[in-house]
Amino acid sequence: MVVKGTPLTKDPELKKLGKAYDIYFNAADLKKIGEIRRDIFFFRKPFLKREEALQKHKKMIETLKPLYKNIVEARNTYAQHQGHYRNFLEFSLENNGLPPQNLARALKLLDSLIARIHQALPEPKNKGEFYSVLSTPDFIDELTDKRYSLPDYVIEKLENRIPKLKSLLPRIKFEDVDRNKGGFNEAVYDPKTETATIRTWASKDLQNAISMAHEVGHSVAYLGLAKRGLEPKDKPKYWHEQQAIRTELVFINSLPEKLRGAALGGILLQFTEALFEIETYTNPNQDFDMVYAQAFNRCYKDVKQDKNPFYVLMETNISRPCSSVLQGIIHAEELSRILK
Ligand SMILES: [Zn+2]
Repeated sequence: MVVKGTPLTKDPELKKLGKAYDIYFNAADLKKIGEIRRDIFFFRKPFLKREEALQKHKKMIETLKPLYKNIVEARNTYAQHQGHYRNFLEFSLENNGLPPQNLARALKLLDSLIARIHQALPEPKNKGEFYSVLSTPDFIDELTDKRYSLPDYVIEKLENRIPKLKSLLPRIKFEDVDRNKGGFNEAVYDPKTETATIRTWASKDLQNAISMAHEVGHSVAYLGLAKRGLEPKDKPKYWHEQQAIRTELVFINSLPEKLRGAALGGILLQFTEALFEIETYTNPNQDFDMVYAQAFNRCYKDVKQDKNPFYVLMETNISRPCSSVLQGIIHAEELSRILK
């Protein structure tokens, strides 16, 4: 959020931040970054092929590393010029409406939560490969490639558990978007028609179903606000994400045991990204490859990495900084009530 009355183009710190972005995206734009990530990490890709892909992209990854750090530093400088913030993390959390003590509290909960999630995880077929630096530990993909009838499967599970959903359903529309063309998961409220539209990837797998449940949570919140004469922007992002994540967890909790475990496993990846961002924005003067490896080691008990440079391929960290932190904190808060 920008201080009111500050024209964007005249803010020198914002200009510097824009420049840091430009340099990064001139080296590789989001499309290219997505291609490289898929080329190395594509699910079910044989391991030798991953090594080959890594060799092919090694130079680019090395190029992106200092450019990524530049963006982090420029974001911090920008935040410091906006007031009392020490870094971009503090700036981002405050502007999203998150009380500062919630971060410290979530970090305290984290290790015991991770241990409890681990109790629910399915066992990977090949632990060595599954937890290698060359794979993204994806328990859902490991367990099932089942396709679902969506959105019906999600609606059916949520309808019985969220009583107000039924009456709102006629005002919620569902649309598919193409991930490979830059489409992302979202729910959008249109005040003219008083409807919410949910856009999710067309894959119809369990991951897609979880995203859909999350977006149903956003939609119910939008429609509830509208009923009270309010708009989405009247509530902070923290509140919105809370509504969405609560619905997402209602769905996850309704799944058969193994699938539920795999779905909870997905949250570990978000904790990893969150820890990485917390560490790097708080102290950019360290080896980011090491910080990323340590974040993985903390979230997955069978991961033992020394260095991991692949944060440069995480589109979310680049285009939506600290959103993993916000979501990670909410997941920690909500899971600490659910997981006993
Ligand atoms: Zn959301």
